[in-house]
Amino acid sequence: MADILSLKESVLVYLDRSGGLQKLAEDCKTFNDPQQIEAVYRFCISVNPSDVIEVDPVLGDRVLHDPIGATALFQSVCFLAIKTLSLVEKIHTESQVNVILKLTHLPPFPEYTLDLCSFPRGYGPVRPVSMEGLVIAMTRVTKYTQGARFLCINDDCSCSTGFHHIRVHAPGATESATVRNNFTCMICSSPLKEDVKFRVLGDKQLVELIHVKALGVLSAHQQSSLRYQSVTLFLRDELCNSMRIGQLYRVLGIPAHVHQWPSITWNPHKVSASFQELLKATAGSPWRFSAIVAHCFGLDVAPPGTYNTLKLSLLLSLVQTRADAKDTYHNLDLLVVTTDTLILDR
Ligand SMILES: [Zn+2]
Repeated sequence: MADILSLKESVLVYLDRSGGLQKLAEDCKTFNDPQQIEAVYRFCISVNPSDVIEVDPVLGDRVLHDPIGATALFQSVCFLAIKTLSLVEKIHTESQVNVILKLTHLPPFPEYTLDLCSFPRGYGPVRPVSMEGLVIAMTRVTKYTQGARFLCINDDCSCSTGFHHIRVHAPGATESATVRNNFTCMICSSPLKEDVKFRVLGDKQLVELIHVKALGVLSAHQQSSLRYQSVTLFLRDELCNSMRIGQLYRVLGIPAHVHQWPSITWNPHKVSASFQELLKATAGSPWRFSAIVAHCFGLDVAPPGTYNTLKLSLLLSLVQTRADAKDTYHNLDLLVVTTDTLILDR
């Protein structure tokens, strides 16, 4: 177990050598507007893992494999620097210093690369990896809670004032990890209440990234049943609007399982034997089954092979409109034929 104090010393040496301390002092100047009082103050620190390893290999290991632990070390050193050099008077506690470590690169080894084609994804260790992919969709920029201040409701408790309970957003965490109404005081266990006027909002944008090989699906005669699935990137704050649809990017990020999909409910229906035969016969291609079904649909109305797209759309819409409109719970959003519920999950 490395001595925390010596790790903090190494952080200080690294910040001093890399110009990080200088930048911290400059960033602090922007927070010295007396009108602006917030619960947390955000500092981005550029970290070159190779240089950190040169200063202290143990610290380098933390940066690469335990980003939360490394961030805590940098946060503590930054807070000490801010207090010792009197950079921002209105920062009272360490938790008000929100440090974001921005790695300049990762070692060029396979264990630091996430192939967007490989499964399972997101269950690995929570550490930075690099991935390359094509942007196929993105949302508008919306707000998220970057940080919030909570106060103890017990007036006799020291946490009923001041900045003891500060929660900041951590990479991979959901919004409810930052702001929720069931946090309790660590001193007296009373409920905590958010001091809403101190809430700090940031920008976020969701971007869908897919392996560049997915472009091959658009080429003719794709016979394999291989699928490509995109991953969602959360761009936060200064990274919003930094990507463009259709461009290829290499991204450094921490994989996380953010969405907990509700468990899937399904109604098993007896599928006729001839239909099952057809499904078996067309298993070699991902599209043939739906194409044949659409081809033959509505024989009394339109001859086979005509209006294929319309027929396919009608087939899909039938799935939704047959249920009682008042009771949308019973509607199906998707009709899938599979033996593997994992595929449905995804
Ligand atoms: Zn309390």
